[in-house]
Amino acid sequence: MIEFRNVSKIFKSKTRTVEALKNINLTIEKGDIFGVIGFSGAGKSTLLRMVNLLEKPTSGQIFVDGQDLSKLSEKELRQAKKNIGMIFQHFNLLRSKTVFDNVAMPLKLRKTPKSVIEERVNELLRFVDLSDKANSYPNQLSGGQKQRVGIARALATNPSILLCDEPTSALDPQTTTSILQLLKRVNQEYDVTILIITHEMEVIKQICNRVAVMQNGEIIEEGTILDIFSKP
Ligand code: ADP
Ligand code: ADP
Repeated sequence: MIEFRNVSKIFKSKTRTVEALKNINLTIEKGDIFGVIGFSGAGKSTLLRMVNLLEKPTSGQIFVDGQDLSKLSEKELRQAKKNIGMIFQHFNLLRSKTVFDNVAMPLKLRKTPKSVIEERVNELLRFVDLSDKANSYPNQLSGGQKQRVGIARALATNPSILLCDEPTSALDPQTTTSILQLLKRVNQEYDVTILIITHEMEVIKQICNRVAVMQNGEIIEEGTILDIFSKP
């Protein structure tokens, strides 16, 4: 589903050169809830941003559904972006728009008919249990509710991949658990493959089936949760 093949990324400026990713090889299978854990600066965001076409490898290849991302036409690129949703640590909601309009945004940008938008957004708001907040604004919501809006928005275009950038780092432990349970339902009920980057071990332990441990731009361990956590 997502494959990194010998991927390296070098950031060069006048004063310094950073090798953010060093020869990464990684396969994320369809249906996985895959966690990438590591300290700040390990290269996790750079890895994630490449799947979303926000960053290009210096060398190596990334395949999504068997397609080499560097070889896509304009049209295929638009399709690829529609197929990938993303949620963020600080939710990234538009403050001036209601919950409904935040979730509708990706569909409006794609010129989706109004009636289709209505139906889809209402379905997603039911799924994240926020139907009663459709006309509220983000600053009227708790952190957990904001992230649920983020999840609904990420699912609007019916993607098969959801990228999660520190999805619970701004939330308390109880809210974290409820968001992780919701992500599990996204995985199961919407058939979405999930890639999560985090520095929180709890996140990995609660929902991931596979995990990669990153350090200084390298994957130093990879396997099932049992593989990684049963080691002495
Ligand atoms: P993490 O997400 O694990 O904290 P990052 O992928 O953000 O790690 O960063 C990995 C390394 O790459 C860090 O040393 C960071 O400073 C560097 N880096 C990331 N993005 C850029 C950029 N746009 N320009 C220069 N250096 C960058
Ligand atoms: P969640 O479990 O979704 O994070 P909380 O239990 O934190 O929700 O919030 C409970 C209720 O308090 C919610 O109905 C929410 O509307 C309200 N609430 C929480 N934080 C705020 C806030 N900053 N401003 C207005 N209402 C809030």
